[in-house]
Amino acid sequence: MSPRPNHTNHPATLVFPVPSKLPDIGTTIFTVMSQLAADCGALNLAQGFPDFPVPAALAEGVVAALRAGHNQYAPMAGLPALREALARKTEALYGRRTDPVHEVTVTSGATEALYCAIQACVGAGDEAIVFDPAYDSYEPAIRLAGARTVHVPLVPPAFRVDWERVQAALTPRTRLLVLNSPHNPTGAVLGADDLAQLAAVVRDRPILLLADEVYEHIVFDGARHESLLRHPELAARSLVVSSFGKTCHATGWKVGYVVAPPDLTTEFRKVHQFVQFCVVTPVQHALAAFLESDPDHYLDLGRFYQARRDLFCRLLSPSRFRFTPARGTYFQLLDYAAVSDEADVDFARRLTREAGLASIPVSVFSAEPEGSRLLRFCFAKDEGTLRRAAEILCTI
Ligand code: PMP
Ligand code: GLN
Repeated sequence: MSPRPNHTNHPATLVFPVPSKLPDIGTTIFTVMSQLAADCGALNLAQGFPDFPVPAALAEGVVAALRAGHNQYAPMAGLPALREALARKTEALYGRRTDPVHEVTVTSGATEALYCAIQACVGAGDEAIVFDPAYDSYEPAIRLAGARTVHVPLVPPAFRVDWERVQAALTPRTRLLVLNSPHNPTGAVLGADDLAQLAAVVRDRPILLLADEVYEHIVFDGARHESLLRHPELAARSLVVSSFGKTCHATGWKVGYVVAPPDLTTEFRKVHQFVQFCVVTPVQHALAAFLESDPDHYLDLGRFYQARRDLFCRLLSPSRFRFTPARGTYFQLLDYAAVSDEADVDFARRLTREAGLASIPVSVFSAEPEGSRLLRFCFAKDEGTLRRAAEILCTI
């Protein structure tokens, strides 16, 4: 009898090279740094995830939905009750009336929404503009769609958009502009003036907008989140993405959603139905009930995270790191130029191995990083963790 196949008698390599659609792409920095942090027993302020529990009522809602038998496929576009709750939230917050049937789709995290939106919007011969430093999932999705990524750098130190540079980057092939506000990794926030300039730039051109607004509720210092949904002219050509991961301290649930006009939603769902089809059912039931019963949870997130940002920044004031407090998100950039002239990837690794603190090097988010000396730290952590991290940074 021949032996049963197992991993030990599989051939080590294929007899032909594996074709790669992303030959220059390795494993994402979030996985790399989280693994290094685990290997070194370091504090992990690298990958962005909160260490706060999901609201108790929400967790109980999931258990109740499981017990009530909501365990089969949900509708492809999302549970109607959840889409209705999201349409009400969109109107209450941004003054835009959205039709939950034709304009709201629940997705498997913002990541799936971004991927499907990009596949739906661009193809061979098209160009998509991203702003560097750019969240790392945009460009691979653009390339897999067969389109070309055009990188427009944000202008440090405030990481503002230079709208003249955007204008200059436009070509007849420009089909999509990807925006992210509040911005990961810099914490920058678009203002109403930015939206006015954006409208002027895309007016009379066949350009779609993809707005990654996953940190919509995490904006500081009394500023207001300028969602593209507030701006009727922009909203008419936009897919706006958000995520319950950030809003409910539940990054592991991977539930997000996209709001877009009916014709864009139709194209979006053509892709979504074959990438994911539908999103985990009991969690959708629980989220629908939670959104209705406790809107104060997300309305309070800005204040909640601002307290953490302020604590972290205050603790770091005696350090040799330089920074401008983040205006949104739960990330703080620190400039280490006064400490070392090492490349940020090397410095971040050394900080993890030798000092026991993991962060994210910012250069990995840019096509042309130009010698940045910036690390990103996630401050969505309890006070003890932030104090330990700051103690480490103050000794460097
Ligand atoms: N966009 C940005 C800017 C993010 O920071 C993240 C993750 N933190 C995502 C998208 C992905 O969100 P999700 O975990 O819901 O897929
Ligand atoms: N978005 C999170 C961050 O910026 C990580 C997401 C992931 O690990 N893929 O850290």
